[in-house]
Amino acid sequence: MKIHHLNCGTDCPLGGALFDGRSIGLTGRLVCHCLLIETDAHGLVLVDTGYGLRDVDHPHRQPNPRITCAMRAMLNIKLRAQDTAIRQIEALGFRAGDVRHIVLTHLDFDHAGGLEDFPQAMVHVLEKEWSAATGPRPGFVLRNRYRPSQFDDVRNWRRYGSLGEAWFGFDAVRDLEGLPPEILLVPLPGHTWGHAGVAIQRPEGWLLHAGDAYFYREEVRRPKRRCTPGLRGYQTMMEVSREQRLANQQRVRDLSIAHRRDVRVLCAHDPVEFERAAAGVLL
Ligand SMILES: [Zn+2]
Repeated sequence: MKIHHLNCGTDCPLGGALFDGRSIGLTGRLVCHCLLIETDAHGLVLVDTGYGLRDVDHPHRQPNPRITCAMRAMLNIKLRAQDTAIRQIEALGFRAGDVRHIVLTHLDFDHAGGLEDFPQAMVHVLEKEWSAATGPRPGFVLRNRYRPSQFDDVRNWRRYGSLGEAWFGFDAVRDLEGLPPEILLVPLPGHTWGHAGVAIQRPEGWLLHAGDAYFYREEVRRPKRRCTPGLRGYQTMMEVSREQRLANQQRVRDLSIAHRRDVRVLCAHDPVEFERAAAGVLL
């Protein structure tokens, strides 16, 4: 099983280091950290999709923009075809049809944008997330975060309840249809109701893609959480349950400390984690 780290979207919010903790200029740089897994017998598996080709081509087409102007402006989203998962996968020598499965942490616009670039893939997500994203969406946050125009062409959903077997003290869903037992969905609600991490068992230990359970590298691997004000504010704005979000973030932090050698943890948007992971440096 080989894992590629792909950045499938770049956001450059005004505020610079107030978001990413390191930029010198006025704008910061956040990534959309996706994983491409080459499995032995199950084809390619993509974890999250970032922004897709249709987002690049027509992000704001009315009446149902794929990305709202409010989010585009707030995050200063850069949309480039070469950043999409499909173009990066092609550059690795594969084709769209080789991606047989997509496992989603959640359905926010910055994670689901590339789904329709892989029409043959089976899309795995928690039932609660699918319901929240496809049901009524009252209010600013729900209307802006879930953009059904990004996934209304997806036909091949596989949806799961949140209960399963124990995994390092978490509940995890292991029997994902068509996927090997080394790939698990780990429910981590709070950012959204059906938010989940994706755990992957490698020979050298587990990798947990924690999605948006945390946003900043210093929120884990250390007992006392540290987060930039920009990302603290964004997480608060986007949360559906503060209590569940903070509790699950604490559990991920505890895991990252107590099982540091057995489980490497990464999140979707931290650029430093992405650079280290892509360079093969341990997180
Ligand atoms: Zn996100």
